[in-house]
Parts: sequence; C-alpha cells; structure tokens
Amino acid sequence: MKRLILGILCVGLVAFVAAGCEKSGSDSDGQTQPQGRPAMSFQDGAKNYDDMQFVCPVCGKEGLKQELHVDTDQGRVYFDKQECMEEFKGNEQKYLQKYQQLKRQPAMPDQGQGGGGS
Ligand SMILES: [Zn+2]
Repeated sequence: MKRLILGILCVGLVAFVAAGCEKSGSDSDGQTQPQGRPAMSFQDGAKNYDDMQFVCPVCGKEGLKQELHVDTDQGRVYFDKQECMEEFKGNEQKYLQKYQQLKRQPAMPDQGQGGGGS
C-alpha cells in the first residue's frame, strides 16, 4: 500500500512540474515587441550611426524619435527624450561606448525558438 501512495505522489509531482514548465514556456509568446522603430526607419537622408539602433544610448529605452538626434562623426544617433539628447551632447564618447554595450543585448526575441518543427 505504501508503494501505491508513493507512486501517486511521484506522478502528482511530475505533473505539477510539467504544468509549471508549460505555463512559463507559453509566456514568451512574442508579446514583447519593440515599441519603437529602428534608426533605419527614419528616412531623413542622414547616415545612421547604427541602422539597427532601437534604444536610446543614454537611458537604454526604446521609442526613438526622428526629431531627437545628434550627428556624430560616425553618423546620426537618435534619442527618446529631449533630456537624453542634451545629456548625450555633453558626453558623446562616453555614451557611444555605452551604446556599444547596450546593443549587444538583442532588443528583439529570437525567432528561431520553439522545439520540434519538422
Ligand atoms: Zn533616453
């Protein structure tokens, strides 16, 4: 009798863990889209510092605005807020370096996700 109870407990535990996995898996459904547009979508004829710039180099947030930009030696950089643009102007090199680190983290979820597709 003891073995039966143990077995039921085991099955219950496995089912619980599996359910938990499934739930957290379906969470990343691709709802976290980037709100803003990349620098390359701003068709203003200027050379972009980074065509795939999605985030503000000062605060790291998305939501870049075409009218908020600074032209650096290496191209045009966009910002989400006026204050970020002003901040950048005072520390151009510092924030360009910071941006290089920021952009290593992908802003978009990988589309190559999901198991078993054949
Ligand atoms: Zn900002």
